[in-house]
Amino acid sequence: MTSTKGYAALSARAALTPYAFERRALRSDDVGFRIDFAGICHSDIHQVREEWGKAIFPMVPGHEIVGTVTSLGSAATRFRIGDRIGVGVFIDSCRECRNCLNGLQQYCWEGMTGTYNGYERNSKDVALGGYSNYFVIPESYAYKLPENLDMAAMAPLLCAGITLYSPIKKWTLVQIAELLLLVLAVWGIWE
Ligand SMILES: [Zn+2]
Ligand SMILES: [Zn+2]
Repeated sequence: MTSTKGYAALSARAALTPYAFERRALRSDDVGFRIDFAGICHSDIHQVREEWGKAIFPMVPGHEIVGTVTSLGSAATRFRIGDRIGVGVFIDSCRECRNCLNGLQQYCWEGMTGTYNGYERNSKDVALGGYSNYFVIPESYAYKLPENLDMAAMAPLLCAGITLYSPIKKWTLVQIAELLLLVLAVWGIWE
């Protein structure tokens, strides 16, 4: 276990307050890292306010997490100490369904394991997010970040950035423009 400092909402709509807790000890495939930056996403605010249904408190939000690797599990091979590392909105999944095996863990048939406001995979431990100074995650659920980019600027790419980039990459800009026109046309008819 590692003593960790963070900021938590102790109840719905409460202001964030300093909060000490223990991160789990490293499992064999885990990587541990010092958090250097965490973006603030509007969904953090929604969840602290319990606007998305029943939430778990105390809640440490934060799912745009950038840091520096400080420890490695005995079987972890993807990272080295000192590497830059990033974590987004999920920290685990079933690892067995077709989507997981195809690298689409965010669409896991059992549901992805969220970075906070939920429980760690197959555990009763509450997952606590990136508004804190230390994090532990299975290494295959973290991103290796480039050395030449600004660390603070990379954090928002891990949720807001990828959410916009993904449809642009998957669909062409023409398709997106067509969709927008369709929405406008339907709206126009509706009005
Ligand atoms: Zn987000
Ligand atoms: Zn799965």
